[in-house]
Amino acid sequence: MLKRSKSYTTNAKFMLHGGDYNPDQWLDRPDILIDDIELMKLSHSNTFSVGIFAWSALEPEEGKFTFEWLDEIFSNIHSIGGKVILATPSGARPAWMSQKYPEVLRVNGSRVKQLHGARHNHCFTSPVYREKTQIINRLLAERYGDHPALLMWHISNEYGGECHCDHCQNAFRGWLKEKYNHDLKSLNDAWWGPFWSHTFNDWSQIESPSPIGENAVHGLNLDWRRFVTDQTISFFENEIVPIKEITPDIPITTNFMADTFDLIPFQGLDYSKFAKHLDVISWDAYPAWHNDLESTADLAMKVGFINDLYRSLKQQPFLLMESTPSAVNWHEVNKAKRPGMHLLSSMQMLAHGSDSVLYFQWRKSRGSSEKFHGAVVDHDNSPENRVFKEVAKVGETLEKLSDVVGTNRTSDVGILYDWDSNWAINDAQGYGLKTKRYPQTLQQHYRTFWEQDIPVDVITKEQDFSSYKLLIVPMLYLMSEETIARLKDFVANGGRLVTTYISGIVNEHDLTYLGGWHKDLQEVFGIHPVETDTYYPNDKNYVTYKNQSYELKDYATVIDVHTATTEGVYVEDFYANTPAVTSHVYEQGKAYYIGGRLEDQFHRDFYRELIQELGLEPAFRVKHGKGVSVQVRQDQENDYIFIMNFTEEQQNVTLESSVTDLITGEELSGDLTLEKYEARIVVQR
Ligand SMILES: [Zn+2]
Repeated sequence: MLKRSKSYTTNAKFMLHGGDYNPDQWLDRPDILIDDIELMKLSHSNTFSVGIFAWSALEPEEGKFTFEWLDEIFSNIHSIGGKVILATPSGARPAWMSQKYPEVLRVNGSRVKQLHGARHNHCFTSPVYREKTQIINRLLAERYGDHPALLMWHISNEYGGECHCDHCQNAFRGWLKEKYNHDLKSLNDAWWGPFWSHTFNDWSQIESPSPIGENAVHGLNLDWRRFVTDQTISFFENEIVPIKEITPDIPITTNFMADTFDLIPFQGLDYSKFAKHLDVISWDAYPAWHNDLESTADLAMKVGFINDLYRSLKQQPFLLMESTPSAVNWHEVNKAKRPGMHLLSSMQMLAHGSDSVLYFQWRKSRGSSEKFHGAVVDHDNSPENRVFKEVAKVGETLEKLSDVVGTNRTSDVGILYDWDSNWAINDAQGYGLKTKRYPQTLQQHYRTFWEQDIPVDVITKEQDFSSYKLLIVPMLYLMSEETIARLKDFVANGGRLVTTYISGIVNEHDLTYLGGWHKDLQEVFGIHPVETDTYYPNDKNYVTYKNQSYELKDYATVIDVHTATTEGVYVEDFYANTPAVTSHVYEQGKAYYIGGRLEDQFHRDFYRELIQELGLEPAFRVKHGKGVSVQVRQDQENDYIFIMNFTEEQQNVTLESSVTDLITGEELSGDLTLEKYEARIVVQR
């Protein structure tokens, strides 16, 4: 496998360990701030994200700035050799600002002006809010830009949500005018205006989607979601103007999120667009370990998928910006991480490309909303606390892994994730309303490769496909002409392409293709999907593929075969014995179509053949049973291998070559026993 040189993420040469440090909650407790210095050292923490929600401590009254406390915090952190990730405070506003300038408050979809409170609820268009953030950001950059402890910028916090105020309506109309070249007819055409008499004859008639107004025009809904991403980025770009001007060499990030209840990528913003504006991707990972719905390994697979997506956004290492050393406080049940799980789950992040393990928050709050959210320092203020000790162990481990910093990984397999397609299919009033599950479907395809330790990039549609031998695009409902042309080129040039039911149905405006499936897709796949049947939860069917029978749920697409080969057939219903799985040689490559939603075992068997045929291999071979994951990061000389046991049992594994344990220095080869939740990090030089 091609080895890749170390790539740029931060200016640090060590693994970052620490997290969101909020001394602004403790300014009247100097004794606590002094304790912090000692506890930072004892927990092996070296990096602190500061100032994220500190606006009211930094500017308690309009124009009156109080940076002295932050000066002291910088000094304290610097005195122990620590680094600061300095945040801009726009994630939460002081009350005086909402009171004096109500335009900074959001208006919700029902056009109700929100009151001051909570956080992450500013209008992203408000000229006042944009001006206020620039003023404070400039002062922060001027004051701390040259501080030796400053490592990175953390812009705002967990951007998300939307605003429907008049400023935002005007901005949306402006965005639409630019997109449709000031031609209202092209907008009406793109949105299929005549349906239900929704044709506009003046731009001022257009409003953002609303539960009490327009919500049935899919093209409008999709454009609104795209606008929300672009307007959020526009707000971010406005925030960083003074920062780029004053500190051009300090890297910039903002913390991305995932949907933590189902552990799928964040749905609200198109991160593929946002990534282009960042120097470093970072994200906040809060998997519900030890939940009662899925095995530890199943959850680990989903974490792997999101890591591989966020790493692939820039094809470089990323940062784990927030995590919890134990329980979060917002799941329905907030389970403590069992002993060992904190080290294991932290190592999994590194294994997929993180150069950090950072927490929210470093010291647990005494009051308010997150006073029970797991932190490094608990209310007992004690380094003898079980969780504190687990954190210190992670810190000690990270100190031995600085060679891994900046290393990346390569992959021959790409799975394509698309925010546009996900939004459009979820909006589609068709198929099964509860069974679309686009991200989960991608995770199902990812699973086979994760189980076999074969590295995968989860890429987006603008990225280069040419380095992959195998490209998997399940349920790509929305495909522009451009995407179709790029997929066609990929196969023509020798790539293997896999797609499924409900792919290539609509164009970039969410308008269906006319005359059946796109002619280029018909040419590449040698088929024509003619209708898709949707199943009730208790309905099922079967597909026979290579003499095996596999269960089918949710969707079955009836296929007309032109020049493809039928590889599998449906067993029941009016389409019994008709093609369900096809393959087709097109120029130098081959394209596969899977017509129904099939069980995991089908994917294992289907992809096994492709894996063999294409010579896809794990980056490092370890023989192991279910629930063990092996992930590799590389530089030009070394392979850094993470062997992780995501089961509650001891696991015996066999190494196929000899390696050195990076933590203990032991030479290892042959059989190795992994205890419950154990992770070994080894190097092959
Ligand atoms: Zn607004």
